[in-house]
Amino acid sequence: MEKLKQRILEESTVMSEQVLNLDGILNHQVDPGLTMEMGREFAARFKDAGVTRVITVESSGISVAFATALELGVPLVFARRKKTLLADPDALCERVPSFTKGIVTDIMLSRKYIREQDKVLFIDDIIANGDAARGLVKIIGRSGAELVGLGVVVEKCFQAGARTIREQGIRLESLVKIESLDNGTITFTD
Ligand code: 5GP
Repeated sequence: MEKLKQRILEESTVMSEQVLNLDGILNHQVDPGLTMEMGREFAARFKDAGVTRVITVESSGISVAFATALELGVPLVFARRKKTLLADPDALCERVPSFTKGIVTDIMLSRKYIREQDKVLFIDDIIANGDAARGLVKIIGRSGAELVGLGVVVEKCFQAGARTIREQGIRLESLVKIESLDNGTITFTD
């Protein structure tokens, strides 16, 4: 998505060789028009996959996942991050390290909102090491639903997450691929 690349160049800040601050378009402020374009793009890429439910993890994935679900005409479910795990027989839980916070968080999805016969599209904001994605992939697997693919807004190719997800045989589509953040410069792939 050329427009998204342009907005990233204009509105993001390289924090280190590993981290890009995307608060202006993804993690703090949201441009509804641009977000709808992202949703249309994901919906177009997965239009033949028979998606019945879009799933994301709170909070930064929600806006793009909402736009995608609206375009596909299916419900959006967001896995919640929990500070404590109270016994809940309906909950599917995984413990995942948080890339930006440097802590471990528990993500939880209620069985009420995912069914065995679902075909699930998982949408997220950024993939780095892939811990968050692997956690949700495990949860979806345990639910019995079929994961048709993963859509991420920004893929950081210099970290292992996207590669390891694809090696699991999962279809992963990204809107923008970043090759490097070296020397304070964003280098895109393609
Ligand atoms: P992972 O689990 O793939 O290592 O990291 C995924 C999550 O960490 C993303 O959903 C995102 O919220 C956050 N994250 C990872 N890398 C970056 C980054 O470079 N910038 C920002 N703003 N968030 C990131």
